[in-house]
Amino acid sequence: QFPFGRRLPCDIYWHGVSFHDNDIFSGQVNKFPGMTEMVRKITLSRAVRTMQDLFPLEYNFYPRSWILPEEFPLFVAEVRMMKDSDPSWKPTFIVKPDGGCQGDGIYLIKDPSDIRLTGSIQSRPAVVQEYICKPLLVDKLKFDIRLYVLLKSLEPLEIYIAKDGLSRFCTEPYQEPTLKNLHQVFMHLTNYSLNIHSGNFIHSDNVNTGSKRTFSSILCRLSSRGADVKKLWSDIISLVIKTIIALTPELKVYYQSDIPAGKPGPTCFQILGFDILLMKNLKPMLLEVNANPSMRIEHEQELSPGVFENVPSPVDEEVKVAVIRDTLRLVDPQKKKRKDVQQHIESCKSKINIRYNYLMCYRCQTVEHVSEANEELLDAGPADRREYGTTKSPEAGLPSLCLKQVFPKYAKQFNYLRLVDRVAALFIRFLGVKGTTKLGPTGFRTFVRNCKLSNSSFSMASVDILYIDITRRWNSMGIDHKESGMCLQAFVEAFFCLAQKKYKSLPLHEQVKSLIDFCEYHLAALDEKRLVCGRG
Ligand code: ADP
Repeated sequence: QFPFGRRLPCDIYWHGVSFHDNDIFSGQVNKFPGMTEMVRKITLSRAVRTMQDLFPLEYNFYPRSWILPEEFPLFVAEVRMMKDSDPSWKPTFIVKPDGGCQGDGIYLIKDPSDIRLTGSIQSRPAVVQEYICKPLLVDKLKFDIRLYVLLKSLEPLEIYIAKDGLSRFCTEPYQEPTLKNLHQVFMHLTNYSLNIHSGNFIHSDNVNTGSKRTFSSILCRLSSRGADVKKLWSDIISLVIKTIIALTPELKVYYQSDIPAGKPGPTCFQILGFDILLMKNLKPMLLEVNANPSMRIEHEQELSPGVFENVPSPVDEEVKVAVIRDTLRLVDPQKKKRKDVQQHIESCKSKINIRYNYLMCYRCQTVEHVSEANEELLDAGPADRREYGTTKSPEAGLPSLCLKQVFPKYAKQFNYLRLVDRVAALFIRFLGVKGTTKLGPTGFRTFVRNCKLSNSSFSMASVDILYIDITRRWNSMGIDHKESGMCLQAFVEAFFCLAQKKYKSLPLHEQVKSLIDFCEYHLAALDEKRLVCGRG
């Protein structure tokens, strides 16, 4: 711990809260710039909604949500319309203040008119969401799952999921919401921080019982009841990858602003806490993503009134120690060096005709290491060769990794969803001034001109009007007043507008994909032309 800062560079910085805890120019930081902002309830809902507009079926794991106060009229109108079309629909909604956590300020309502509009709603924006009325119950109790996910790198995208997580239980038997039980938090909200105050909370040393259990213990139970646990895991993996795909475009904008390409800067990784609710039919639903999940492995116990003691919590310990240990193993800079050497040996072996018991290497820095390693490799049998770098590494003797790579492992299945990422790449290209996150009117005009998007039916004057209209609306939502200009979400909206205009009859995701292809084609042609001119 360096409460007053540290002068000498480290290879890994473990920050408590955010990327900006220190000024860092090298190594790796355990937080991404902008992550805390990205996983706030409103920002997450917006990012997922953009993906729902493009791919409604793929993103049906997030409850229908409205952003308050600006979408209050829309919320009222849509609920009325749905009730009119299906009079038997008796929904419940959950109102969650933006930026809140641990169940703070959350309440359930049966009708839009029950929203507490008085006083704080203007000053405290919120998300109102369809309440999942039929969750899966275990021992008659509602529970949610906390899964730990390591975002190891943004570019290229690398995601790992921990094999085990936590299940956090309510402390009152569940009943579907009625006007009478709406306010019973111990029945409806699974937050540990709330339920710990219930007299029914059970601290248990056993991972299979009590109010906090391992997720694997729930899976065992489900499996013994004949549930398709493999399918459940694959749905959870898919939910995690899709959610991160929804977050990456804006994260990349933050990243280039804080760590401009070409300047010395650190790389980042981050452990995220995914809160997931299982429906009765075992469909996983995303509740929220936590940028600073608690890594505590003890809980407080009241010995006598007012006297507390920290006691170990075996369930937390079992899950969380493995997550931290494996995160460090995966980001270990020494491991990267070992891997580089290994790859170097492989590439030398394939390039050079090995007649003698040594390799000729022209990279003087690694020559000694390589020849040494090579001798060992050539001496060893094939099995030992495979093991090289692990048997001798400090990892020997550690348990196998609890963090499993899911991306790029399953990239092929999900890459078609990464359209907004490509829109963000266009946005970043035209941002111009390094360190900014908003596009000025000139940048937007240059984007339209370079991508050859204006023509006789879409003049540069209409381009300016589109820019002003959309930018003004987004800025009036009061998200970020620090900079003026067009934010990424506003640019995405403008891009969707242009795509709809140009490719009229296609579904939205095809319109957007066609426009991205069109823009990328013209920009590549422009780059080539500039390169040729430069050479000339
Ligand atoms: P917080 O950040 O305050 O914990 P969450 O979004 O995690 O807010 O919500 C708190 C709790 O409320 C969740 O743990 C879950 O038990 C319950 N909850 C949240 N959203 C829903 C929903 N759409 N349907 C059913 N229960 C929900």
